[in-house]
Amino acid sequence: METTREHQKPIEPVGTNEGSDKPDDFLRAIVREDVAKGKNNGVVATRFPPEPNGYLHIGHAKSICLNFGIAREFNGRCHLRMDDTNPAKEEQEYIDAIKRDIRWLGFEWGEHEYHASDYFQQLYDWAVLLIKAGKAFVCDLTAEQVAKSRGTLTAPGTPSPNRNRSVEENLNLFDRMRKGEFPDGSHTLRAKIDMASPNLNLRDPVMYRILHKDHPRTGNAWCIYPMYDYAHGQSDWIEGITHSICTLEFEDHRPLYEWFIDQISASGGKPVQVGGGSVRPRQYEFARLNLNYTMMSKRKLLQLVQEGRVTGWDDPRMPTLAAMRRRGYPARAIRALADTVGVARRNSVNEIALLEHCVREDLNKTAPRVFGVLNPLKVIIENYPEGQVEELEATNNPEDESAGKRNVPFSGELYIEREDFMEVAAPKFFRLAPGKEVRLRAAYYITCTGVEKDALTGEITCLRCTYDPATRGGWSQDGRKIKGTLHWVSAKHALNAEVRLYDRLFVKEDPEDVAEGQDWRSNLNPQSLVTLQSCKVEPSVGSANPGAMYQFERHGYFCVDPDSTSQQLVFNRTVSLKDSWAKIENKQGGGR
Ligand code: ATP
Ligand code: MG
Repeated sequence: METTREHQKPIEPVGTNEGSDKPDDFLRAIVREDVAKGKNNGVVATRFPPEPNGYLHIGHAKSICLNFGIAREFNGRCHLRMDDTNPAKEEQEYIDAIKRDIRWLGFEWGEHEYHASDYFQQLYDWAVLLIKAGKAFVCDLTAEQVAKSRGTLTAPGTPSPNRNRSVEENLNLFDRMRKGEFPDGSHTLRAKIDMASPNLNLRDPVMYRILHKDHPRTGNAWCIYPMYDYAHGQSDWIEGITHSICTLEFEDHRPLYEWFIDQISASGGKPVQVGGGSVRPRQYEFARLNLNYTMMSKRKLLQLVQEGRVTGWDDPRMPTLAAMRRRGYPARAIRALADTVGVARRNSVNEIALLEHCVREDLNKTAPRVFGVLNPLKVIIENYPEGQVEELEATNNPEDESAGKRNVPFSGELYIEREDFMEVAAPKFFRLAPGKEVRLRAAYYITCTGVEKDALTGEITCLRCTYDPATRGGWSQDGRKIKGTLHWVSAKHALNAEVRLYDRLFVKEDPEDVAEGQDWRSNLNPQSLVTLQSCKVEPSVGSANPGAMYQFERHGYFCVDPDSTSQQLVFNRTVSLKDSWAKIENKQGGGR
């Protein structure tokens, strides 16, 4: 399985194909053909089977959009199945988060919520059937010994010394395993297939392990738990899943899933169907979603959380859906990404810049514009009438006329952005400098007449300016040319805000690309969060609830964080305005 960097071109412009018929990818083509042929009576049933051992990430979103999307497009059903076979790692918090995130993404499973743990008895009964048929045996090797005796791609494995135990002995031992007579790790139940198979998954894989641990759903009813590979295919079978869609790394597991169902069927086992019709599932594999500058390993994401390297699963720097929601990524943008990268059978790494592009495209149409000053510098307008306040009209969204206009208060004391002033203007610096005139957006032209500094540090503390009353609204009657347009806020009306600026979580495109002796954590970006404490925003955002989105003009898109209070607003920068995707796309287009 090679991993290449390739970038699929958008099939249609991002965001415009929502709701309409999606173009067929190879999976949709298969489903369409099956339906046309009347396979499974034309029924389409898919499932999304998360293991509740962490939060969902953007990679899962691809699978969710695919499974729920196909079900929706073909009038089928999509099950949500918690693959809860390992109580050592699974938690209720994760189950709740998974449901919240799928709904947020825009999908609904309705009555079709299932749990692999609901099938524990059925799976156990089938295991007994397989033992009776001589297809499974209790093995006394430890996990390490099993792993060691598995052999390699070029060398066959070594059969377990217990491989030829009698059926009676196997039944007796398996029963005692179940009753809790043995400690963890002392025995396993293994399928008896072929220790010389070129497919390592078929070399007598473990079906059950002993684990004396309560399960969130089955409590202490079990102390043996089925392995994922034994539970997964049969769960699909039980639920009548017609198209069992998974990522490419499970391609080599497919023969094992087929083997289990073949052997169980041959021994007279039949699934008690839940959820719908009696079908034999077929598995199809697609390429997982990978993004550069981040990672999709739940194990490593958990490590970031546990080691306090991020503030939690929903830290806005994380690739989880909870984090993206908190950061202000619209669900629509994530669905647009899934559409854009498409469904292929070749693994690749996508640009995180493409995701950010999808976010911008969406927010550009929907986010109201406001003025927010991140690094404020005081401006005093000397010729502005003492005590006067004007309400000036500003456009809410130039992309959407129906968004209307708002009033922004203007007065003789303002804040502008510190970086919009240079005492000695560099060439091509068209913003404010001594003697220079600029436009304040939607307000007036101002000219800088003086600079005040801190006597000790020399830091600029305040600018003195004059304004031209004939330029109200930001336009001059005499047509004189102005190159710089700045945003601003009125000092006494401005609200204080904390603004959190995020950058990529890792400094390297591939976080696993490390020097000898280092691990992936050495690639964490120390600048991934910069917090600005003394920002000033216009008063119109004062009543906004967490999740509300704005474009701070000239800065990017920002959303109100749940940490926000009426005393202190807190904003997350969702994404800056600079679209690096366009550049990447041009480069690639040119190279092809
Ligand atoms: P692990 O099994 O190591 O805990 P996982 O990411 O496979 O991690 P699951 O909860 O088993 O986690 O995943 C649920 C579903 O999401 C699976 O069907 C899997 O194929 C799919 N999935 C997981 N990661 C990606 C990804 N990066 N791109 C697309 N689909 C993914
Ligand atoms: Mg998995």
